[in-house]
Amino acid sequence: MKKVNELPYNYGVKMRIFPSSIQKRVIDKNIDFSRFYWNQLVAANKEIAFLRHNESLVWPWVDARIARLREIANPNCKLLKQMFPFANDNDIDKTSLMQVKANYVSAWKLCKKVPSTKPPTFHKKHAFGSYQSSTKYDKHKHERATIFNSENIRFLDSKHVQLTKIGRIRVGLSQKRYLRLKELCDNGFELRISKATISRDSCGDYYVAFQIASDTLIEGGFSKTGSRLGIDLNLENFLTDSNGNVVENPRYYRQARTQLAKAQRKLGKRCARARKEKRPLRKAKNYQKQRKLVAKIQRRVLRRRQAFLDELSTTLIKNHDLVAAEELRSKNLLKNHALSMSIADVGWRIFLTMLEYKAIIHGKEFRTVDPRNTTQTCSCCGHVLKGKHKLTLKDREWTCPKCGQYHNSRDHNAAKNILAKALA
Ligand SMILES: [Zn+2]
Repeated sequence: MKKVNELPYNYGVKMRIFPSSIQKRVIDKNIDFSRFYWNQLVAANKEIAFLRHNESLVWPWVDARIARLREIANPNCKLLKQMFPFANDNDIDKTSLMQVKANYVSAWKLCKKVPSTKPPTFHKKHAFGSYQSSTKYDKHKHERATIFNSENIRFLDSKHVQLTKIGRIRVGLSQKRYLRLKELCDNGFELRISKATISRDSCGDYYVAFQIASDTLIEGGFSKTGSRLGIDLNLENFLTDSNGNVVENPRYYRQARTQLAKAQRKLGKRCARARKEKRPLRKAKNYQKQRKLVAKIQRRVLRRRQAFLDELSTTLIKNHDLVAAEELRSKNLLKNHALSMSIADVGWRIFLTMLEYKAIIHGKEFRTVDPRNTTQTCSCCGHVLKGKHKLTLKDREWTCPKCGQYHNSRDHNAAKNILAKALA
């Protein structure tokens, strides 16, 4: 049986789950406890930092306290259970604490490596939440790991999975996807569930996401087409490719904006009324009902956008062997307020990430190029516009002053340059 880090491919499968009310309680308890433990780690760390920087404090006491705080950071320690009796609850998935610890450590690592990220902070209680659970494989019992033979987390059939502390639960998974996974397992490939993330969204629906490590491509892989494509992402339309095709911007958020604003106003009124009558919000029924409605509108916008990006990225990867795009500097772009809503709405970042991983899982290639001068260069002769000749956002079409080539779409010209840069 191979280990997770010996398997080159990673693949995620997210499914809706349909828990009973008892199962819901177990999931909610685990989500709460994961968050609680994370906050304990943050608090312990803050206190250690404080004690260390205060030299006026008495030393023996300080050392003892630091040692105790350090112990909390060990998810297996008895101290944790002594201090917080509810940690002994039989419904708590012990592997989730390990995952919290691992996430906490990697949050610190990231913070030290990337200067702009902040150190881990306290997590507030929200309507949404999640926890992670790791799988156990018995390497003596089975010769290779599959999605069916893990000790605690596995597929039972196409409609059910087994989860730690929750037991058998119904899932919504497409038959096609399930049969593909089963086929690979039957054909002798290693498909190991490395961890499961169980989550609840703001609308109160539950999901499970399996991270599956494997020694083969899970998607079948698209056949080679011999075609290469450059794409220019811009604000007038979603993208223009180097063949001159234009994909329009869907702008789902703008469409739903009026409806959303109306629903949010109503939510605000209900919140004010509950506050006035001194009722806690989580017990205010009408407020909660409206909160779910707002969450549903937002989820619909998100899902429609996701579906659009998913379909478009799959089509591009399917039809072309190489797709080239500009590196995004959307942080700078977002500073321009006039443009920021459009940029946030179209989701270029997610789109490029999709292209990147889809290229990998389908055996194609995706490249990004430096966006410098891609718009200002003539794709025919290579002349670069400078100074007062530079194109502004308003200039949609232009004629090259050097070779006289008329460019009827500046985006099409830019897409050609992006492809040329990627091939250079
Ligand atoms: Zn030219």
